Amino acid sequence: MESRWSDMEAARAVARYAERGVGEDLALRTYTARLLGADPRLVLHGGGNTSVKTVMRDVYGDEVRVLCVKGSGWDLATIEPAGHPAVRLDPLLRLRQLERLSDEEMVSVQRANLLDSNAPNPSVETLLHAFMPHKFVDHTHSVASVSIADQPDAEEICRRIFADRIACVPYILPGFGLAKAAAAAFEANPRAEGLLLVKHGIFSFGASAKEAYERMIEFVTLCENYIAATARPRTKPQAPELEAAPASSVLPLLRRAFGEAAGAKWPGRWVADLRNGPQIEAFAANEELRLCALRGPATPDHIIRLKGRPLILDAPPRDRSGLEGWAQATTRAVADYARVYEAYFARQNERVGGIKKPLDPLPRVVVIPGLGIVGTGRDKAEAKVAGDLVEAVVRSIVDAEAIGRYEPIGEDDQFDMEYWSLEQAKLGKTAEKRLARHVVAVTGGAGAIGAATAKAFAAEGADVAILDIDGAAAAAIAASISANTLGVQCDVTDTASVSAAFARITAAFGGVDILVSNAGVALTGMIADLPEETLRRSFEINFFGHQNVAREAVAIMKRQGQGGVLLFNVSKQAVNPGPNFGAYGTSKAALLALVRQYALEHGADGIRANALNPDRIRSGLLSSEMIAERARARGVSEAEYMGGNLLRQEVTAEDVGRAFVAQALMRKTTGDVMTVDGGNVAAMMR
Ligand code: ZN
Repeated sequence: MESRWSDMEAARAVARYAERGVGEDLALRTYTARLLGADPRLVLHGGGNTSVKTVMRDVYGDEVRVLCVKGSGWDLATIEPAGHPAVRLDPLLRLRQLERLSDEEMVSVQRANLLDSNAPNPSVETLLHAFMPHKFVDHTHSVASVSIADQPDAEEICRRIFADRIACVPYILPGFGLAKAAAAAFEANPRAEGLLLVKHGIFSFGASAKEAYERMIEFVTLCENYIAATARPRTKPQAPELEAAPASSVLPLLRRAFGEAAGAKWPGRWVADLRNGPQIEAFAANEELRLCALRGPATPDHIIRLKGRPLILDAPPRDRSGLEGWAQATTRAVADYARVYEAYFARQNERVGGIKKPLDPLPRVVVIPGLGIVGTGRDKAEAKVAGDLVEAVVRSIVDAEAIGRYEPIGEDDQFDMEYWSLEQAKLGKTAEKRLARHVVAVTGGAGAIGAATAKAFAAEGADVAILDIDGAAAAAIAASISANTLGVQCDVTDTASVSAAFARITAAFGGVDILVSNAGVALTGMIADLPEETLRRSFEINFFGHQNVAREAVAIMKRQGQGGVLLFNVSKQAVNPGPNFGAYGTSKAALLALVRQYALEHGADGIRANALNPDRIRSGLLSSEMIAERARARGVSEAEYMGGNLLRQEVTAEDVGRAFVAQALMRKTTGDVMTVDGGNVAAMMR
């Protein structure tokens, strides 16, 4: 592992932050914290923490000694100076004299001594940073250090690697107790340049930002070298022989199993993130290795994201006919996992006096031999965090087993960490959005209405896939929404293209919950004069295109067994035809019948089908030129034309997007047509 320190970059950071009034110490602290955060072998997703001791002025103008330590909610990869809030150091140091200090008292003292009372809570490891006398303190749960820390003889190995350069601290839950133990370990070996926290991670110290950072790099490199030198050669490191059914067939069945195990008490809808590189697949296929993961989390930091153990499934069969049997076995396996978790909670909660509230009992990590490892979450972003952490855990376990035995913290310590109020505070700070846990596919997604609809669903917390005949445009809209939004090229008139698109969505998210079938075309001409190809083309897109995507979505929804929503853009023309729009109106009228057919045939599956009949929306189907032309023809201004409705207001693509969201949320409405046209008597449903 190479140091990424650059004198030039460091000087630039100092100059840049100085413009904002940030001193050199905090500037360099920010610079090296970001260096640590940039390497996933060192730090992942809010893991690790860093600090610097410096002098600042308070509001009275007095100089005070402060500890600037990572604040809750900041990620080292993107941290700014404000991410290391300043806490008065002397009151923190006085705490060491106390015999005991509750977590609440610790947090209270830390907050009360912030120079800025609006700053985020200082890290739960603040006191450990404070009690070390060094100016810069860096802490990570790096992959290689965890492989060493999780050995039964970690202290012995630590001595072999580092001699007295690193002091060992036995496992203690983070907080006051750990901070005192770490201080004692350091004082017993005052030459130590860092700490190995058994079953947890590693610290490095330095008089300068560079020294602490480069010691971290050196220590982790020494761990890596030790692993490389002592690893037993594995006899079967190769990728598996197994060949399972594709993720697109398997993941909806996993979602069904989650839904059934969740019952009425817990949310049953989860978004998936599948990892399947060669190392992951080799791990998933190796029974001896994957069973190691059941021993516990590689570092206690992971437990709130991954729970204490993964769920391990059987390999899914290759042939589709065998999948139903696999699905049933999977449903039983997820239910068993939940029962085991609930028993763990009950047993442990009794141990601590029955004061804790249970978390949901569903797995966050699912090992599927032949396929890979699935991280789960309330949305794709959360599932990806689980996926990233799992990749690091797999490397830690493989290496730990290669040099000895993977032996993480036991059940009591797992529970204390998982249900520690300060860890719980890291999760669920914001209320879940209304459409979190939902995957939405929008066809015609790169058009004005499609894009506005996709954005409206994303704003409600849904994960979105944009389908469009123009793949590049779909990708561009997706990128404008979020890194987790998927852009897919899809020709809705081509069943193979539709199948491929939905397979991609399912592999990416685990399934589909809501379809917004919006792609359409407005071909014009008097009906009697219309070339047959024109009418057929109109039906291909405005009727069969919707049928193709709805059929595919329903098949996935039925596999998931958790209902679903089909929403269709039938336009005003479906109920209020206009001259020269026969090709459009007849196909949209047929589409309205199709919506009702889905509603009546799939209500029993919990699948709702509803239609929206928007009118006069600026889009590819109603361009600026068309608006100008029609306004001229009627002798009104463009604004009057666009606001030609009862409310006298233009209806926008965003209004349509919000109406689709409203339909998705109306849980007891199906077979309905909703207007979003500002009021149009001729188009009122009767
Ligand atoms: Zn830690």
